[in-house]
Amino acid sequence: MIEDLKKIVGPKNVLSGGAEKERFSHVWATDIPLSAKGVVLPSSTEQISEVLRLCYQHHEEVVVHGGLTNLVGGTQTNSNQWVVSLERMNAIEEIDIKAKTVTAQAGVVLAELIDAVAAQALFLPLHFGAKGSAQIGGVVATNAGGMRVFRYGMTRNLVLGMEVVLPTGVVLSSLKKIIKDNSGYDLKQLFIGAEGTLGIITKVSLRLFELPTSRYAALVALKNFNDVIRFLRMMQRELSGNLSAFELMWQATYQKAAPKDGQFQLSPEYPYYVFVECLGHDLQKDYRAFEDALALADGKKILLDGVLAQSEREVESLMRIREDTQVLRDSFVSTQHFDISLPIDVMDKEVERIVADLEQLPFIDAVLAFGHIADGNLHLVVGKNETTPVIFKTIESIVYKNLKKHLGSVSAEHGIGVHKKAHLKTSKSPEEIALMKTLKQAVDPKNLLNPGRIF
Ligand SMILES: Cc1cc2nc3c(=O)[nH]c(=O)nc-3n(C[C@H](O)[C@H](O)[C@H](O)COP(=O)(O)OP(=O)(O)OC[C@H]3O[C@@H](n4cnc5c(N)ncnc54)[C@H](O)[C@@H]3O)c2cc1C
Repeated sequence: MIEDLKKIVGPKNVLSGGAEKERFSHVWATDIPLSAKGVVLPSSTEQISEVLRLCYQHHEEVVVHGGLTNLVGGTQTNSNQWVVSLERMNAIEEIDIKAKTVTAQAGVVLAELIDAVAAQALFLPLHFGAKGSAQIGGVVATNAGGMRVFRYGMTRNLVLGMEVVLPTGVVLSSLKKIIKDNSGYDLKQLFIGAEGTLGIITKVSLRLFELPTSRYAALVALKNFNDVIRFLRMMQRELSGNLSAFELMWQATYQKAAPKDGQFQLSPEYPYYVFVECLGHDLQKDYRAFEDALALADGKKILLDGVLAQSEREVESLMRIREDTQVLRDSFVSTQHFDISLPIDVMDKEVERIVADLEQLPFIDAVLAFGHIADGNLHLVVGKNETTPVIFKTIESIVYKNLKKHLGSVSAEHGIGVHKKAHLKTSKSPEEIALMKTLKQAVDPKNLLNPGRIF
């Protein structure tokens, strides 16, 4: 295998015989050497096709590596598996200014793609904490979300075309740049969010928008969840579609996330905090509209307090309060993270129940709730002072208890990977899971590509 793989990608681009141990399986696990038969670093779609064809012939398992930022164990490997990494497929092939599209190879880092299109006054609205490492192929494979989903949609809404290599080595190439295409099944949708189980994405074409030229943000405090919803609706109405982030933090989260050298931007005693951002195209008009919308909410006694960012640097520092989850993680001996979806009308009651149930347990230090609330996406960081498999499962069962009843989801945006497999049935019916397995079987009959992920 090693010699044949070297013939395909070149001798320097197969790491094996110990060289693979220089690498790792996740950005959080950089001190754990990779366990795999070897790492293959192809530089073209043709090479990936040949690699997969060879692995298919020889019944070899392959795990795909993008930027390694997923939070569900999706890039874990064992010593019997090969890794195919997309990092050498990192060219931006075309920015089409007239069509407002970008076509890129899968290994381009998201932040680089955002910057490259911004240089052409175009906007790729994906925004989340891992954008400096995540690759566009991994972002599409996980259908990533982030802060701006309620305005621009998930990654799925941005993908116009795709090139993908099936586990058998067959290449499906459809790098279209058109929005409308009802010519039969929309096959690219199969691979978006499939976490690499159905094929390796090699290239994508994405839809872009005009680059916003105005950006305003504020952090406000509110007294109850009902006011949070009223405030959301008011901002959506008053900002004529310019609202681009609406991030909620419950009190305990703000208290842990906000202090920088003991300084709070707002008093830490309020029940709820919301970070709001507005992106538009008219500096003065947008500022007035933003200020007026906040004043209207204030006049209606929806806001208890607030701070309006006065510069780009202040916008970034307010945003970091919500985005820097490392601070939350570092506050505890051990943490457990959740990424669930719930209808907005039950969210607050559910958070109350989860916090109350968890705080009964002796090993819980704190439950921190926050999220992309306009999408019904709730994140929880559970801080604990002990960790065993039983404790892990006990916490999971409390958090997931009512998801099925409320027609929520066990994974709003991070995927199922390896970690959440046992809970897939919470979000999908037996019939849906059966059809997913049928699709996997049809495309990958030997179960060789990203085996053991999702189910
Ligand atoms: C600090 C932080 C913040 C985050 N915030 C968010 C957030 O707000 N919203 C959100 O949705 N996610 C978030 N994530 C999760 C993560 O960043 C996303 O899932 C991201 O899209 C993964 O991209 P990646 O290139 O790192 O993929 P990887 O982690 O390398 O891979 C993810 C999965 O996709 C597969 N894969 C990778 N590349 C390909 C390819 N080319 N073809 C087929 N399969 C492939 C892998 O095998 C794996 O199963 C965050 C992560 C971190 C660390």
